[in-house]
Amino acid sequence: MPNVENSYRILRRAEDANVRSLDAYRSVGGYAALEKAIRQQTPEQVIRQVSDAKLRGRGGAGRLAGEKWRIVRQTQDNQKYVICNAYDADPRSYAVRTILAQNPHQVIEGIILAAYAVGASEAYLFTRSFFYEGVAAIQQALKEALEVNLVGRDILGTDFSCTINVLGVDVGFMGGEETVQIALIKGRRGMPEQRPPYPTQAGLWDKPTAINSVETLANVPLIVREGAAVFASVGTPTTSGIKLVTVYDIAPSNAPSLPRVVEVPFGTPVRAILAHAGVSHPESDIRAVVVGGAEGGALPVSLLDTPFDFDPIEEAGAIIGSSIIELLPIDTCMVHWAMERSNYLSKESCGKCVPCRLGVKRIVGILEGIVSDMGVNGDLAVLDEFATYVPNGSLCGFGVQAPNPLKTAKRYWPDHFHQHIEELQCPTGTCLPVRSHRFVTKHVLT
Ligand code: SF4
Repeated sequence: MPNVENSYRILRRAEDANVRSLDAYRSVGGYAALEKAIRQQTPEQVIRQVSDAKLRGRGGAGRLAGEKWRIVRQTQDNQKYVICNAYDADPRSYAVRTILAQNPHQVIEGIILAAYAVGASEAYLFTRSFFYEGVAAIQQALKEALEVNLVGRDILGTDFSCTINVLGVDVGFMGGEETVQIALIKGRRGMPEQRPPYPTQAGLWDKPTAINSVETLANVPLIVREGAAVFASVGTPTTSGIKLVTVYDIAPSNAPSLPRVVEVPFGTPVRAILAHAGVSHPESDIRAVVVGGAEGGALPVSLLDTPFDFDPIEEAGAIIGSSIIELLPIDTCMVHWAMERSNYLSKESCGKCVPCRLGVKRIVGILEGIVSDMGVNGDLAVLDEFATYVPNGSLCGFGVQAPNPLKTAKRYWPDHFHQHIEELQCPTGTCLPVRSHRFVTKHVLT
């Protein structure tokens, strides 16, 4: 099993040096990677190192960062951009704000290395305005970096220049979508756009643009400083390196559960991540572990040993997504849980495409009917239909993942649905009716 205790590379533990200031960051090797890259390496060499390190995007999709950079580099244009996605779509994730607040210079170094690799002279750090501490830390760090010529014109006396602009907005879940970020930077209404063309070829102001998550970029200085082989020695053969995870314990009866952010190698079993975060309960107290945040899936305790990596988590029905792992108590009715999650997601949909805008609402309506003991057997077939129809007809990743709560609840707890429909009883005795009438759907009329 991966060594979770010694895996901290981006986060700072209590015993680690505080590296928020430039001097402190430099004292632990900070900006050595930038100096090495722009004085001794070509942009192509930097890209090759990132590719060899198998650095996959930490923002949820898991695409290879080196491959993205290679396309931007090779696309002919006189202007290119880097966008650092420091916007946690799921506000319950604490990864981004923790990185910004604890290690802002590593983020800046990663952005400048990305800009050097792809040939960009302008970068944007797109974040949530309410990450007050993180935004303040990154702005202070930028000021320090500008003063010593680590950012801006002719960086470190070379002919490479790059500015970084910080943009803080708060537009709900949609702000995490890359085409929404591009639109908002341009001052337009933020709505997901059809792809292709992908931002790597026609992004910000139709120029080639590398968009990487802040966590992905914060890993780049480690790769350049220590080499791809060292970086790839941690993690799994398909996904190297470490991952920040926000863990939520079962909430106490009259208070919300507080988040704990930990850093673990990819491939660490979910059970070990929980233990590392200090979360421990007998299995008999746990109904499910939800992996991936609001659009994540609920897994039964029998899957607690699933490795935390893109493929095994997706095979189980969940996603890496916003890297939130949370426990649901044993008295959770999974029909009710799927209904609440779907209801939240239906409000976050931007509404641009019909399957997502109406499909998720229909899922909520049918689940509300079942919870209110007005369900019929045909509801299950209609739910399956929507679970396929919504992702297939959706423009962006939000709609693709939106049925995950429903799908995993049905897959692992079919008895909860059957008990509500056939016995008109909540399996845990916790559901209260939420509707006084049911949706009339085709399967009822025929
Ligand atoms: S899938 Fe949903 S969130 Fe994405 S563009 Fe369509 S309506 Fe908007």
